[in-house]
Amino acid sequence: MWRSLALVAGPILLIGLCYAVAGPSGPAGGALRESQVRLARERSATRAFDLNADCHSAAHELQQRLPESWTFVIRPPYVLGGDLPSETLERLHRETVLPTARAIGVCYFDEAPSEPITILAASSDQSYRDCNRRLENRSREEYAGVYSRDARRIVLNLSTGEGTLAHELTHALAHADFADLPEWFDEGLASLHEESEFSSDGLELIGRDNWRRKFLTEALEFDRLPPVERLLLEDFGRSAQPQVEYAQARFFCLFLQERRLLSHFYRKCRATHDLDPTGSLALCDLFGCENPAVIDRAFREWLQVVR
Ligand SMILES: [Zn+2]
Repeated sequence: MWRSLALVAGPILLIGLCYAVAGPSGPAGGALRESQVRLARERSATRAFDLNADCHSAAHELQQRLPESWTFVIRPPYVLGGDLPSETLERLHRETVLPTARAIGVCYFDEAPSEPITILAASSDQSYRDCNRRLENRSREEYAGVYSRDARRIVLNLSTGEGTLAHELTHALAHADFADLPEWFDEGLASLHEESEFSSDGLELIGRDNWRRKFLTEALEFDRLPPVERLLLEDFGRSAQPQVEYAQARFFCLFLQERRLLSHFYRKCRATHDLDPTGSLALCDLFGCENPAVIDRAFREWLQVVR
């Protein structure tokens, strides 16, 4: 009797336990999941509709402020404009913007832009200056490109090459994903991508050596390279040697990339930002140390080896 009861009750209890662990299943659970998927699709379609409308408004506003000869192409979330044929803007979007956004999106970003990102490509020094004067009342000719956070707008001097686009696009996409990204990290990551190449599967944008190294080499030779802790804790770009700060931020990101810690650091920094706004605790956690001086020593040793 007890044995037959156990044989009957055993499977029933087992099914009940599985249900408790796995949650609703069967027809009711399936219907619930289907309605969740439908709701997510409807929300996504509404967002896409709104973003498309906002992109058209942004393009219309820019057409009023820029010369008639400028053309525009709308590919949400991007509005591309330039004193260039629309085919060139299409190519820029297809061959540079999309693959770059895909690779850095995979490595770092989880939040897609919900507002238009404008990319204005000027074909010459003169049209670059003119565009910036019309939009910002200043020429910005000291830079090859600028990203304006208020307007979520990139202006590029395309005659200097397309490396600047990767730099400014990193700023724009990071702004959408992690608005409070520490400034040193924002500039370090963006400038890492100005000299970079895609991995063979296109899922990573790998930073390489570039011209900013000379500022680090000089600072090391004359013992003027501040410790990494100052990079993390002090206001970025306000010192008497901003070129050294930019170079240090970039090469520190390259150092993290070579340690395979860069994307982990980005996501940890974002997740713990409320408690650790400079990212220094997240960095110590990844290096398994309590003092950033340990990381500074490792960074300087790496610089000596790779220079
Ligand atoms: Zn920048």
